[in-house]
Amino acid sequence: MTDRIRDFLTARAEQVPVVSDTDVVVIGAGPAGLSAAVSAARNGARVTLVERYHHLGGMASGGMVLVLDDMVNDGTEIVTTGIVSEFVDRMQRQDGAVFPPPEDCQTNWEMWQKWARWGCIDFHKQGMPQPIIHAVAFDPDAWKRVSLDLVAEAGIELRTHSWFSEAIVENNRVTGVIVQTKLGRQAIRARMVVDASGDLDVAASAGASFATGQFIVTTVFRLMDVDTARAEAFEYENPEAFKALDRQARRVIGGAWGMWWLKTPLPGVVWCNCPHMPGYDGLSPEHMVEAEYEGRRRMMALLEFARANLPGFENARMLGAAEQMGIRQTRLLQGEYIVTKDDVKKRRHFADSVCRGRDYYTPYRALLPRGIDNLIVAGRHYSVESEAQKQSREIPPCMAQGEAAGVAVAKALQANCALRDVDVRAIQKQMRAQGADPGDMPSANALIEPIAAA
Ligand SMILES: Cc1cc2nc3c(=O)[nH]c(=O)nc-3n(C[C@H](O)[C@H](O)[C@H](O)COP(=O)(O)OP(=O)(O)OC[C@H]3O[C@@H](n4cnc5c(N)ncnc54)[C@H](O)[C@@H]3O)c2cc1C
Repeated sequence: MTDRIRDFLTARAEQVPVVSDTDVVVIGAGPAGLSAAVSAARNGARVTLVERYHHLGGMASGGMVLVLDDMVNDGTEIVTTGIVSEFVDRMQRQDGAVFPPPEDCQTNWEMWQKWARWGCIDFHKQGMPQPIIHAVAFDPDAWKRVSLDLVAEAGIELRTHSWFSEAIVENNRVTGVIVQTKLGRQAIRARMVVDASGDLDVAASAGASFATGQFIVTTVFRLMDVDTARAEAFEYENPEAFKALDRQARRVIGGAWGMWWLKTPLPGVVWCNCPHMPGYDGLSPEHMVEAEYEGRRRMMALLEFARANLPGFENARMLGAAEQMGIRQTRLLQGEYIVTKDDVKKRRHFADSVCRGRDYYTPYRALLPRGIDNLIVAGRHYSVESEAQKQSREIPPCMAQGEAAGVAVAKALQANCALRDVDVRAIQKQMRAQGADPGDMPSANALIEPIAAA
């Protein structure tokens, strides 16, 4: 899918100024890119981090996706640690993160009523009440502040307001990237490149194979002046009346998960992860304009309904929509291995696992494009089938991918070799040294079985 094309014109050839000459360039400062940049820098590489917007965080801040989940296997085993844990600790110290203490992670109605509206329930479990698990509600500005601190402390060169536009490829290597800025086009030379754009912009430009996927898009928003205690009391004391009203609310917004509002660390401010809008292409400017109008129309209709009908929402006001459109899936790499739905569902363990999320494992090969020696991807556009990506794209696992990619590029620089020739055991060992779980030791519920030959 693409925008309507009316004609073509030829642009002029030009001399592009080189503004950075570095070991590693990371494109995209979302959860995956930030983690990749920090991890590579801490492993001794000179890193330049490129971001199109002024803020860091991608969907986690600009996209206002405000719960970290998919962090736990089988109820209690926290599998996304390393930089993820560091982020959570730092945000918590700034009153920007809320999560249940271990003793509250139980399966009973008392804990469910205490934690469900924070989003700290196991959404994958059928039956009520769902177990309370380690998930983290956070504040988007805390995310931005922590990101900037980590970048500064690691000595990373940060280039915001720089929109990646083109990969320069010579002999199976990306030797540099071109970004668009207000000053015109600028070039960055690098020995290793990490594509963390979420939409596979770099790998696609470099000629790597990819599939085009799609999922619902969402104009996420927040409401303020909500009496959350009153809303929760109504929900738990009048379950039937609540269900009827909540069904109507979800009809008005036109598509939402079971819980369309969740609490945030800011009192009286709730996060609305809706509406669900299918059929939009997250790469198309024309589609994004339509989605912007459609999302804003629906969110104002919901606000009106909530103010008139929902106890606790009588005085609610629109705090605002997210700065970035909520894009879940666009291009997906077709790399050295393509993770399948079966792999994710059956919890297949891979000997070359370098990171994990919830109960699934990500092989190193799923971060590597075919045929390009010095490019690695991290984040929601990794090498995975569309249906499998929908189950394996949450923020913490994307950060774990980034952390592993950062280690991998540092190892490749040290060994002066192609990324596919890096010793995977050395990546796994270093991930453990950084406090992360590379998934090299399968949990008891993992599937350990070779993949049948095609
Ligand atoms: C509406 C919605 C709800 C979600 N709910 C949850 C949830 O509850 N919990 C959860 O854990 N996950 C959730 N997710 C999934 C999660 O937010 C994403 O999968 C995750 O943020 C992906 O991280 P990423 O770093 O790969 O990509 P992104 O977060 O998309 O970051 C990509 C970064 O690259 C930058 N970039 C892109 N293109 C360029 C370019 N050409 N030049 C320069 N910079 C560029 C972007 O600005 C951005 O900063 C949700 C996603 C959406 C959309």
